[in-house]
Parts: sequence; C-alpha cells; structure tokens
Amino acid sequence: MSRISKKSVYDVAIVGAGITGSALAFFLTQAGQKVLLLDAAGIAAGGSGAAGAFVSPKIAKEGALKALSEEAFLFALEFYERYFPHLTRFAPLLHVSTDPTQNEKIEYFKKHTALKRCAPSSEAAAFLAQHPQCASVMIERSALVDAAQVCREMAQGAEVLIHEVKTLTCKPTHCQIDHFIAKKAVLCIGAYRPVLTLPYVSLRGIWGHRIDIATSTQLPFHLHQHLSVAATCEGRSAIGATHDVHYHPQYAQQPYDIEAGRQELLRKAAQSLSLEHVEVLRDYTGLRSGSNDYLPLLGPLVDAEATCTHLSGLRAGRHYERAAFSYHPNVLMFNGVGGYGFVLGPYLAREMARHLTQGVALSATLDPTRFFERWVKRR
Ligand SMILES: Cc1cc2nc3c(=O)[nH]c(=O)nc-3n(C[C@H](O)[C@H](O)[C@H](O)COP(=O)(O)OP(=O)(O)OC[C@H]3O[C@@H](n4cnc5c(N)ncnc54)[C@H](O)[C@@H]3O)c2cc1C
Repeated sequence: MSRISKKSVYDVAIVGAGITGSALAFFLTQAGQKVLLLDAAGIAAGGSGAAGAFVSPKIAKEGALKALSEEAFLFALEFYERYFPHLTRFAPLLHVSTDPTQNEKIEYFKKHTALKRCAPSSEAAAFLAQHPQCASVMIERSALVDAAQVCREMAQGAEVLIHEVKTLTCKPTHCQIDHFIAKKAVLCIGAYRPVLTLPYVSLRGIWGHRIDIATSTQLPFHLHQHLSVAATCEGRSAIGATHDVHYHPQYAQQPYDIEAGRQELLRKAAQSLSLEHVEVLRDYTGLRSGSNDYLPLLGPLVDAEATCTHLSGLRAGRHYERAAFSYHPNVLMFNGVGGYGFVLGPYLAREMARHLTQGVALSATLDPTRFFERWVKRR
C-alpha cells in the first residue's frame, strides 16, 4: 500500500467554490479543519457569481421545502449580518403574485408562515394600488449580498486552487482527487459535468441572466413579482433573473444571446413598474442546479453498481434500510440548491460541517440516497 505524506493530507477537499463550497469551507476552517478548495475557474465562477444575490424566503406551500426554506432564510439573515455586514444590504421585501391565479399560494403562505410580516410602507402601498388584483405579502426583513465577494471572504481560511478535477478515487481511508489527498471530499459542483458517475442523480441546469442597471427610479424595498428588482446603491438596481432549462454552457452548440436576455429582463421588470432613464451597466450569467424534487442533496453517495450486486433482492423490489447499501467511501455531495443558494447555502454548509467534524447526522430527507431508492425501483 502506498504511504501518504502527512504534510499533503487535507482534512477535507471541496470541489467547487460557489456558495455551497465556499460556505462549507467557512464553517470547516472555523472548526479548525485543513481545507483544500478546488475550482476549475476560480471562486464564484459558476452560478454563484451571477446571483443577485437576494436572500429571500421561498413562497412555498406546506412541506419539507417550505420548512427548510424558512429556517435557512432566518439563519442566513443572522449569518450575513454577523460575519459579512459590509457585504449585506437589508430591506423589507414585497412579494406580489404575478396574476390572480397565483393569489392562493401567497394567501396560504401568509396564514402559515412564522416569518415576521409588516404592513406595506407608503411606497409599497402606492405600488400595490397599481396591482389591485394581485395578492401580496410584505416581509419585514430580507437582504441582498455581494455574491462573489461574500464567497471570496468565506473561502479565506482554506487553501484555494484553480484546478479542474478530472478523477476522484474514493478509498476506505481517504480520497484521491487527481493528485490531491484528503480524508474526505465534498462535491459542490452545481450543475456542471459530474466528476463521479452516479446513474441515479440527475441535476437540472437552469441557466440564468441578470443585469445591473442605472435608473432614476427609486425603490425603497426589494420587489419580487415577475422577477426580482432591488436597489443595490444610490441610482443602481439589480434585476433578475431569467430561467432557461435548455441552455447549458458545457453542452451548447450556440453562444448565449445576451441581447435577447436583456430584453426579457427589461420587459418583465416593466410588467411590475416603470423604470426611468435605464442604462444596462453589467450582465451576469450562470447556471443554477436543481433536483427533481426541488430539495437539495446533502450527504453520502450510494455506489449503485456495488449495491445492486450485493443486494440482489433490490431487483425483485425488496426493501432494504439505507444502512445496507454500499456507499462510495469518504465522499459526500452538497448540491441542488436551485435558485436559493445564498439562502440555503450557509445553513446547509453548517449542517455538513457539523456532520464532518462532530458526526452530527444529516437530514434523511435531503440524503441523495432517496434518488437511488427511486431509481432502483424504476429499473
Ligand atoms: C442569474 C442568477 C441569479 C441568481 N440569483 C439568486 C439570488 O438572488 N439568490 C439566491 O439565493 N440564489 C440566486 N441564484 C442561484 C444561486 O446562484 C445558486 O443557487 C448557486 O450559485 C449554486 O451554488 P453552487 O455552489 O451549487 O454552484 P456554482 O456556483 O455553480 O459552483 C459550482 C462550481 O464548481 C466548479 N466546478 C464544476 N466542475 C468542476 C470540476 N470538475 N473541478 C473543479 N471545479 C468544478 C465550477 O467552476 C463552479 O465554480 C441565482 C443564479 C443565477 C444564475
């Protein structure tokens, strides 16, 4: 057996330095871990660098996603305020339905949310008077963070390298990530080409475009309707984002049409409010990563081939406890945060860090094993 030089062994190697990988690096280095953070293109070079980034709750009906979203949202507000106040801008959030068919969802949310609401400010009331058919909810506090800079500052305690990971070999004692060695590896690669073959995991890439604009229109609250609009500083606003499940930067034949994206963003913003003297200052594009059940994936990874071989009853539909499955040793996944990476990221990163450093169990609901169980039934 080859010997591993102690000097080069990391406690954890994180592949991908978006919000998930950077937030995980933050919590792990705070816990004293030696962390290697690898990214093919640099910190926040993927979807995270494109984000607004609004920290707002998901207006969802009852269920695991709503509970997670609210808990993570409150955690994120406190987290950014405590560690990154200089990169965070707080403001109330006005969420308005796009049309009356969506009103029920907002009314339901209002009845069941534990989040603090407030009466619309005079500016918000004036806005709502122009949308009398639409239900709305005003949340007392939401935030906007400087996406790329917050990732860079979170990653400061880790050793960061620009490196595209090509191979991952998971062994019972450690993981080899190309020529790097770590006791554990965590894959935080969003919707990019996988580095480990997992036939049961299919993550959807959702391409998005947002813009920063200069405008003379003042907006004293964050607005979510057809899309999100927020003032980032005096005379500047962020507008975002588009959703395109067909375009993927690693597989596309044609370049992305920036002009068409801009037009879509400005048209949707105009459905909510009239922005005066608009000048587009900057475009941001990137890939979100969504799972089939809209919940993130946080946890260990089943070795599908080994499991199907040693649990022959699986083919006949026999039920086994998750503990009976074979797992790729020492590797975990943190992915599928969709359009809410800056809301869910810090909370889930803290959970993952506590799991890795203190052995605290991860949520069974978010365990990627759920996709193996569904996949094996369909085979
Ligand atoms: C336009 C837009 C607006 C958005 N607005 C918001 C918002 O307002 N609020 C919010 O909460 N979220 C928002 N999101 C969603 C948010 O950006 C995502 O949830 C988040 O970026 C997901 O982070 P991630 O770490 O999973 O993935 P990513 O940020 O995509 O990071 C994955 C990283 O992995 C790297 N990588 C991939 N393969 C390899 C490899 N083989 N080796 C090394 N590195 C690799 C990539 O280079 C990339 O940097 C927005 C997204 C977009 C596109």
